[in-house]
Amino acid sequence: MFKELIDKFYLDRQKDREQRHFYITDAGRCPRTIFFKFKNVPREEMEAKVLRMFDHGDYIHQLIMKPLLSIKEIHVIASEINIPPQELISGRADAIISDGKTQYVLDIKGINGTIFKNLAQPKEENINQLQLYLHFFKVPKGVLLYVNKDTQELKEFLVDYNSGWAKKLLEQLSDLKTKIDKNIIPSRIPDWPDNWQCRYCQFKEICSMADEGEMNWEEFKKRIESREG
Ligand code: SF4
Repeated sequence: MFKELIDKFYLDRQKDREQRHFYITDAGRCPRTIFFKFKNVPREEMEAKVLRMFDHGDYIHQLIMKPLLSIKEIHVIASEINIPPQELISGRADAIISDGKTQYVLDIKGINGTIFKNLAQPKEENINQLQLYLHFFKVPKGVLLYVNKDTQELKEFLVDYNSGWAKKLLEQLSDLKTKIDKNIIPSRIPDWPDNWQCRYCQFKEICSMADEGEMNWEEFKKRIESREG
């Protein structure tokens, strides 16, 4: 009854999802996945429950921001703040906060209990995002705050800005932009198909039809169309 309508709401929202610019979450990700998103290649549909989990992330952010805004030792300088406009990439950090001495970019991540328990270091994909926030906001320190979605426990990791790290990520995105403009499909990531990104990739079937290395998008498109036809 209502369940089907709620599912439909989420599934309808993911239609027409051609990507037109880079998001901060693309930093360090498989370039081939992002290429396929820009070219609006048909992808496996996400389930409504997965899409609802993304909304749950917003709820976790509110849960953390509420005490931060009330604690007198913490000054919230800005929350939900967009990176300064520039051509390559867009993104929004959760908050910039200060303890009265130092400013930090805060990034809040909700994760499941098993991953949380084993988390001894921040995840690389989260550091990638944070490095770009630190770069664009010119803030030298950041905090990755993980929330256990099952128990609401917290873990935090301090991350220092590393200009070499951020510049490398931006160079990779620039390189990918050139490939998108020139219709060159990037190579698969080296540890395909065992990499965690491949396991959750919505393009894994299409990717397995393409060559391992770079290839021309127009030629590959004909290959897909002849298979579909
Ligand atoms: S299957 Fe792996 S290599 Fe292929 S597009 Fe997806 S993430 Fe990239």
